[in-house]
Amino acid sequence: MNRILLKNIFHLVTMNSSGDRINGVDILIEDNRIKRIGSDISSNGTETIDCSTKLVIPGLVNSHHHLFQTFQRNIPPVQNAHLFEWLTNLYEIWKYMDEETVYYSTLLGCAELLKTGCTTTTDHHYLYPLAFQSDIPQLQMETAAQIGIRFAPTRGSMSRGKSKGGLPPDSIIQSEDDILTQSEEAIRKYHDPSPLSMRQIHLAPCSPFSVTTELLKETAQLARKYNVRLHTHLCETLDEEDYCLEKYNMRPLALMESVDWLGDDVWYAHGIYFNDDELNLLAQTGTGIAHCPTSNMRLGSGIARVPEMLKLGIPVGLAVDGSASNDSSDMVGEMRNALLLHRVHAGADAMSAPQVLEMATKQSASLLGRTDIGTIEEGKAADIAIFELDRLEYTGALSDPLAALVFSGINHQADMTIVNGAVLVKEGRLTSVDEREIIENGNRISRHMLERAGIL
Ligand SMILES: [Zn+2]
Repeated sequence: MNRILLKNIFHLVTMNSSGDRINGVDILIEDNRIKRIGSDISSNGTETIDCSTKLVIPGLVNSHHHLFQTFQRNIPPVQNAHLFEWLTNLYEIWKYMDEETVYYSTLLGCAELLKTGCTTTTDHHYLYPLAFQSDIPQLQMETAAQIGIRFAPTRGSMSRGKSKGGLPPDSIIQSEDDILTQSEEAIRKYHDPSPLSMRQIHLAPCSPFSVTTELLKETAQLARKYNVRLHTHLCETLDEEDYCLEKYNMRPLALMESVDWLGDDVWYAHGIYFNDDELNLLAQTGTGIAHCPTSNMRLGSGIARVPEMLKLGIPVGLAVDGSASNDSSDMVGEMRNALLLHRVHAGADAMSAPQVLEMATKQSASLLGRTDIGTIEEGKAADIAIFELDRLEYTGALSDPLAALVFSGINHQADMTIVNGAVLVKEGRLTSVDEREIIENGNRISRHMLERAGIL
């Protein structure tokens, strides 16, 4: 039996329903669960980790990503582009994706997430180039299992290419029959609904401007048949709103309502341009939002009305979004940006440190339909992030250790990240993969893709 004792924790943030934050407590992990939280738990030969200078929080949960984008960070031609221009340029690079790209980009993105205390991530892979015949969900599932992160990706899709009035080139889209058949196959093969599951899969047509309403409707039926969730981008820019008004004579959320995409099994990425009635509709139906503040700032997309969403009880999780618009998978950085962005917009009391941590843990978990992760409680998954506070950058910040993590710091690296009872980051280094190998292969692949696209 695997047992780990976290001893004498300087500050524990549980995120349980009473919001308990405890000093000087111990946590016993047994196999993949949190067995006990209490004072003076005896070690009895158990592997013991001294946490007397450490902040311990639930493992962070990332609710939106495009791992395949990790090799297209800060590409010069689109560094200063708005969403539609950014997308049309990047499609011309992404079409050169191959098996190795999917493998190393998944590994790289998950590695960064783990190093910043993230223990569960989703992914939204929506590119299925015609020339690429491999089973992408399988490749991603195997890669996530290799590094050890808890993985709940979506099976993305695009079916409306340029020739049908969509944005992407026809060479990277699929037929709707293929999308539905392969989505069903992916659910059957990879969705494990059991408690503490390490792999689940949900369905995610890319956006209203890259699929048809028929596909949205049929995807919703398929997801509900198998009790998996629905995800897509919505209300990210005014260009998207204009597209929906022009093409369908409906605002984006009305369009989604018309294809049965409202409910507590649906979560949208971004959600910037909702009006008051639409926010009320989201609240009434329990429809969730993955908030991506860095991406929204980076692309100049706008500011989501998150403080109002939280007041209305809309489930709002936090997410890094893809690395072509962030340009990193830094979950602590994302918390800090969420805190600061809403203060710029609505004042210093618009967003607090506990609120951003709640979005990054149990709220993100709820978007993925999980109650077994996102909090530190007995019986829950042993998914824990540990940060060393005995550092220069936190000196003078210890009157509120949770706030220290979000307000202070020069490096968002976790000292230790535990997923499903396994230590995947130790003293800031990954234990399950070779970091050097990822760096060398990642740079090689990125360079090769840019050369093929004529950018380098
Ligand atoms: Zn996205």
